[in-house]
Formats: sequence, C-alpha cells, structure tokens
Amino acid sequence: MTETAHVMVVTPHPDDAEFGVAGTVAHWTSEGKDVIYVVCTNGDKGTNDPDMKPDELARIREREQLEAAKLLGVRDVIFLRHADQALEDTPEFRKELVRLIRTYKPEIMVTADPYRRYIWHRDHRITGRVTLDAIFPYARDFHSYPDLLEEGLQPHKVKEVLLWSAEQPNYRTNITDTFVTKMAALRCHRSQINDNPSTGWEEWLRERHTMLAQGEDYELAEAFYRIEIQW
Ligand SMILES: [Zn+2]
Repeated sequence: MTETAHVMVVTPHPDDAEFGVAGTVAHWTSEGKDVIYVVCTNGDKGTNDPDMKPDELARIREREQLEAAKLLGVRDVIFLRHADQALEDTPEFRKELVRLIRTYKPEIMVTADPYRRYIWHRDHRITGRVTLDAIFPYARDFHSYPDLLEEGLQPHKVKEVLLWSAEQPNYRTNITDTFVTKMAALRCHRSQINDNPSTGWEEWLRERHTMLAQGEDYELAEAFYRIEIQW
C-alpha cells in the first residue's frame, strides 16, 4: 500500500491550507516530516472575472496548489475535485476521507474549524465536520467499512487534530522563521491574489499573525483549536 505520512492537511479549496497552516507545514517539512494535502473542491467559483471559465479556473487552481505545495515541501497533493460551493456531508465524501486516512495513517490531521459561528463558507464547515467524523468513529472502527478492510485498509487512530480559523484557539505555533515561505506559497495562488484589488493583503496577513502571537515570546504565530485524542 501507499507510504504513510506524518501529517494530512484537508483543505476545502486550493489556497485555504496556505492561509491556515502553511507556516507550520514549512516547519514540519524542514524537520523531515511527510506532509500530504487533500484538496476537497476544485475551487472553480473563486473569481470575480465574468470571462473566466470555471473549467479553466479549476485547472489553473490545481497548478497553483501544486506549486505552493512544492514550495512548502509537501510530498503529495490529492485532488478530490468536488464542485466548489457544492460540498455536502455525504456518505461518499466521508468514505473518501476514511480511505485516505487509512491509506496514509497520519498522526496529525489539520483542517478548517467547522464550528465558526454565523458567516462561514459552507465548504469549510462541511470539510471540517466530515473530516472530524471520518477520524472518529469511521477511520477507527473495524466494522465501519468491511469493503475497505477487504482491500487491506486497516482501522487507524489519528493522535492529534489542528483546526485553523478557530474562534477560540488553544494552541499556537511559532512561524516567525517560516512566514516568508508562507507568503511565497500564498503568492503561488495568483488567480486568487490578483483577484483582490486591495494590495494590502501582505501587511494584513503580517498583522493578523502578529496578533495571533500576542502573549508569546515570538513575533508571528499560526493559531488552532487543538484536539489530542486519547484512544
Ligand atoms: Zn476556502
């Protein structure tokens, strides 16, 4: 079967993982940890340009995601290619994630916090929720998917989950040294960055990560809601 990976990042759209966790990913990969990305939707609605065709945009965004992942040292990128803004909490989607968890056997999983209140992208909410369900109980339990077992995909216990965009983070990582790499990875997403007429996003991002580091003895942080799973 496929090689295992230390970390699996499940991202709703191409570029969300870079905003959420790229600074931390750069640390992990520099320590020699294997990181893989799972990109749930094709991101084909992510434009304000009426002349941009969704098919073309999906292709562009895959290329951008691959470029960003390469820069961060991510080992593999798996594109599930669900339609943008159409992700649903279905048995099929859940099983796709369980299959990947059992294949790669990550210790750590990272995804969007599904429990942000009020205005929150539906694809982010669904991605986070289905990922958590896939981790427990479905990836863990022996009898959840007899057909996966028959394929040799044994149950797997993830040890730790990090959720980005959490309203009340309980865990921070120091990204002062990798912030430059995070910015470079974000710049790979040209279709998204150029889309935004306000050019102050780099300063905005620095301010955001400075704020997230408040109270720490370093300058820039990524912040998460962290769950350690006691199996
Ligand atoms: Zn997104």
